[in-house]
Amino acid sequence: MFTYYIITFGCQMNFNDSERIARVTESLKFKKATEKLKADLVIINTCAVRQSAEDRVLGIVPEIRKKNPAAKIIITGCSARRPDFQKKIAGRADYFIDILDVPLFLKKMAGSAKGTKKISKNNQTITAKTATFFKLKPRFSSPYSAYIPIMTGCNNFCSYCVVPYARGKEFSRPSKDILQEAKNLVTKGYKEIVLLGQNVNSYNPENYRGEKLKNFPELLKKVSQIPGDFWIRFLTSHPKDMTDELIKAVADSDKITNYIHLPFQAGSDRILRLMQRNYTSKHYLKLIAKIRAAIPQASISTDVIVGFPGEKKKDFEKTARIMEVVGFDMAYISAFSVRPGTPAAKLEDNVSREEKKRRKQFLTEILKKTAYANNRRYIGRKVKVLVEREKKRFSEKEGKQKEIKIYSGKTETYKNTRFKEKSGKKIQTGTFQKVKITKAGIFGLESYEL
Ligand code: SF4
Repeated sequence: MFTYYIITFGCQMNFNDSERIARVTESLKFKKATEKLKADLVIINTCAVRQSAEDRVLGIVPEIRKKNPAAKIIITGCSARRPDFQKKIAGRADYFIDILDVPLFLKKMAGSAKGTKKISKNNQTITAKTATFFKLKPRFSSPYSAYIPIMTGCNNFCSYCVVPYARGKEFSRPSKDILQEAKNLVTKGYKEIVLLGQNVNSYNPENYRGEKLKNFPELLKKVSQIPGDFWIRFLTSHPKDMTDELIKAVADSDKITNYIHLPFQAGSDRILRLMQRNYTSKHYLKLIAKIRAAIPQASISTDVIVGFPGEKKKDFEKTARIMEVVGFDMAYISAFSVRPGTPAAKLEDNVSREEKKRRKQFLTEILKKTAYANNRRYIGRKVKVLVEREKKRFSEKEGKQKEIKIYSGKTETYKNTRFKEKSGKKIQTGTFQKVKITKAGIFGLESYEL
């Protein structure tokens, strides 16, 4: 039996791409190996957003080559197209294949293994290949939470980002395909649907014949009209495309969760211009004010980059100020890392590694304070949690060990929440539970003292 193993780096889009590839391997009767060192075929779905993700691939490939020399290694995903990356592992990986071409490649591989006829070359345009790729049904990893990509690619060309080069121009899926996928999932009992895209709020399906929807808020409304008890999340939004209509769609619906991820990246307008982000800090703060006014209970997270080329102390202070003023629930803070081929790679990376680390730490301390203050507001409130995990623990009572079950999951505001089993009642993962919060931490909530 021919075995395979998929390793995925990076964002939820990559994760969902891997789920689609897994369905292809299954349809070809490949068997999933228990680990990469036992597989005949290892598919590595790479991420090019940060150097650290590429470094990990550069570490894994030689390890597989050494300990599992017979394995075929396919490099796909965002780094696969990058010549400088290919050069670094040339001779160790067997194939560099665009993710859109992986299904056909696997079919060819299976065909030649069985001695069947060759499958002809795929001469479709990138747009047609993308459409074909999204017609593949994913093999969802979770039985209750699923990602649905609504678009891929990006037209924004932020100066530090490789995504527009790695994934190409924006491609939006027809709304009927997305709605059908969502309906199927809800019928199967899925409780959480995450609409995905590099830029969900620039979703634009208008070019399809007969397409009725115009934009992302209209799509969100349509998904929320599907009958059933489920949540809708969405990732990631760009501040320049965050419209009043979108904020209203979230505020008006019980199914669309009150969690907004809105990257601001930098607080200095000079740095935002160098980043080619196409908004100002004033615009960003105005959006936050609108969100807070329309959805007072919203939790807000963000992405920030510290140490962008030319970021001076006073620029950084503006970033810190936004962190304080907004009071984020979560922030994914990264130190600028040079991505070859991007405009920012031509700028001098002149903030030292130590200074980037210090700035990152400074923002982390602000985040800890604001996240904790926000979480404390939950104490005494009853919240709905989608249960994701169950863990056994032992507590000692009167000299006797007693097994207790600890559950964890997320609130609709994306707060990690832990709670203890209710007396004797078995709780299934993938169900909604009402939990009364008794304790707040920096990055989570608890329903009792652990
Ligand atoms: S919006 Fe900017 S950061 Fe986001 S994917 Fe597009 S280019 Fe990259």
